Amino acid sequence: MSRDSTVVKCQCGIVTRIFTTFTPINSGRRFYKCANPNGYKFAYWKWVDDLLHPRVANLIHNLKKENDNLHRANKILETKMADLEKYLTSEIEQKCERLNEEVVIDNEDVVIDKSKTKLIKYGL
Ligand SMILES: [Zn+2]
Repeated sequence: MSRDSTVVKCQCGIVTRIFTTFTPINSGRRFYKCANPNGYKFAYWKWVDDLLHPRVANLIHNLKKENDNLHRANKILETKMADLEKYLTSEIEQKCERLNEEVVIDNEDVVIDKSKTKLIKYGL
């Protein structure tokens, strides 16, 4: 069994949870901490991982920052995309309404173009 799955209990009695820090010095390093929000009196706290090489910690820190920025940029793009889709849908609906004023689908295979008063048969 790896030490990751070791059950570590806090002095208050509950099982600690594993968290990950992203401070520059210890970026990516996991630690056990009491999961009890009122357990600060006991506040069990212990590293899971050994001290990271400063270069590795710094690299993780920068990658995390870059990843967070990309997530933010992606959220902005998703919002813009949704707005654009809404705009285009409404534009298309308006165009279709205008088109429906001119063209009436009379039955399954005949379209009557009122504006030009002629019949258009599908498949011809
Ligand atoms: Zn506790």
